Amino acid sequence: MANPVPAKKPILKEVPEAVRDDRGNLYKRGRFLGKGGFARCYELVDTRTNTVLAGKIVSKSLLVKQYQKDKMAQEITIHRGLNHAHIVRLHGFFEDSDNVYVLLELCPRRSLMELHKRRGAISEPEARYLTHQVADGVEYLHRARVIHRDLKLGNIFLNEDMQVKLGDFGLATTVEHDGERKKTLCGTPNYIAPEVLEKKGHSYEVDNLNNDAVKLIRDLLAAEPTRRPKISQVKSYEFFRNGYMPVRLPTSCLTMAPKFD
Ligand code: ADP
Repeated sequence: MANPVPAKKPILKEVPEAVRDDRGNLYKRGRFLGKGGFARCYELVDTRTNTVLAGKIVSKSLLVKQYQKDKMAQEITIHRGLNHAHIVRLHGFFEDSDNVYVLLELCPRRSLMELHKRRGAISEPEARYLTHQVADGVEYLHRARVIHRDLKLGNIFLNEDMQVKLGDFGLATTVEHDGERKKTLCGTPNYIAPEVLEKKGHSYEVDNLNNDAVKLIRDLLAAEPTRRPKISQVKSYEFFRNGYMPVRLPTSCLTMAPKFD
């Protein structure tokens, strides 16, 4: 039998050079930031305030099925309610006939994925600084009853000042009542927690982190979810209490190991 014809991806219209939101504010398209499964991201300059934002732009031709629309709406609903120093801020959203536009806090230093590709292993103080900020962001999410479900290097962004910002709430969900276990199989294959993979029911423990401290990593990776530390316990691990914790990271860290005096 002949191979089935692969489904054609719709050819996407170019993102307009300028767009207006519902209030009439004009945003000018700047440089291309990257693309994901659905979205194309560009810098969008808010011409009223002259601030540069990241515009996550999703073509409506990719939002045809009801579940695709629901997923996009769910991402916006969860994300817009969040407000924390280590979570990418969602400033607003609007649409025109072709696209949905989500206005996000700009993270010009890209993600830990690019840092990892460029640097490979990083120093222990850098790991301590970055993972502590990740833990802060995740602790906030869990207190807000949100499970991210796709924490990975590519979704841990860095702002201009090298501060961690957790982003991409495309797979996030909210816990409605204590003890609830989610059953949806989701995440990125290499990082899926065993109970998500086995559809045994999962909750907050699936948001694990990566760092260099053996005990912390071993505890976080416990196959049995109840044996993993709660995110609120993570920051009291020895890894964070002993050893140097930089107050900030120089941008030179993006390309080479820092020398801390
Ligand atoms: P998708 O949900 O379709 O996978 P992403 O949220 O991963 O889309 O965004 C696609 C790409 O756009 C990312 O890989 C990243 O390069 C870039 N990007 C996303 N959010 C931001 C941001 N806030 N600041 C800068 N770049 C961003």
